Amino acid sequence: LAAGEYGPEQPGRVIAHFGRTLDVRADSGGDPVRCHLRANLEGLVTGDRVIWRATHDPAGHVVEGVVVARSERQSVLERPDARGQLKPVAANIDQILIVFAVEPAPHPNLIDRYLVAAEATGIDPTLVLNKIDLLPKDGGELMALLNRYEALGYPVVATTTARENGLAALHDRLAGRTSVFVGQSGVGKSSLIDRLLPGEALRIGALSKDSRKGTHTTTTARLYDLPTAENAELIDSPGIREFGLMHLDEQQVTEGFIEFRELLGRCRFRDCRHRQEPGCAVLEAVKRGDIHPERFDSYRRIVDSLNEA
Ligand code: GDP
Ligand code: ZN
Repeated sequence: LAAGEYGPEQPGRVIAHFGRTLDVRADSGGDPVRCHLRANLEGLVTGDRVIWRATHDPAGHVVEGVVVARSERQSVLERPDARGQLKPVAANIDQILIVFAVEPAPHPNLIDRYLVAAEATGIDPTLVLNKIDLLPKDGGELMALLNRYEALGYPVVATTTARENGLAALHDRLAGRTSVFVGQSGVGKSSLIDRLLPGEALRIGALSKDSRKGTHTTTTARLYDLPTAENAELIDSPGIREFGLMHLDEQQVTEGFIEFRELLGRCRFRDCRHRQEPGCAVLEAVKRGDIHPERFDSYRRIVDSLNEA
């Protein structure tokens, strides 16, 4: 291959992007390559799987590349931009790790809000209870709360960054997946990521400082290989960590309560809003005790908050 000439098309993954410039990692391995986009392509985000071609210098080393196509996305995480329009921020994520802490203690309604937002993306959520070193002797109430979510089918993992092997259970959930961490401020996301990516998390801060100086006001996401688990990847940015405060409609909220789903076709009225309608399968399940009253209360509150907005 002559210097400057494009090599064959090959698959890769976007690990960072800065406007129309991307860093792409070849599926076959090696260092990331700075790429530009072919003119007809746009809107690529971190995590996208792409087809690209490399150019080489006279010695045969890859110098840069061009992305020629984007593969279909398995999932996409979106956030509203300044005008409230949903924009993709990362793609091909397998798992949303919703982080909570023993302190500040989670309110069930907040857990439900995150779960509903995650369900709307189609990406599997996992609940991570952090700071278990602070769990009081009678931490039974919190454990009962988490057991309830486990019974619904959500994986729950307990962690602490205060002990040497405090992340052991998390490594299993990370292996073989592309994950993002979300959750309220103060629950320990930075601490967890610091432990998973020694030395790397600092670079996220550096990146955000750079982009603030440039024309891009939002900080873009970055994909990291986690050295601590097999085939584990993390996509992270300050914007992603704030996920969950997104705009959903009433139907998305209703379907986001997974234990409601099989009941929704069984209400007497096709347009039932599960408030006080006769023959409502959801209300009957609440009465029977099949739906936990706190989950139903959360549902009501989330729907009411949509109607206020
Ligand atoms: P973030 O806002 O979610 O990124 O949270 P941080 O990682 O900044 O953590 C918030 C505070 O909780 C910091 O003071 C951390 O030192 C502390 N913290 C994080 N993880 C743990 C933990 O497992 N146990 C205890 N006791 N404190 C923790
Ligand atoms: Zn109903």
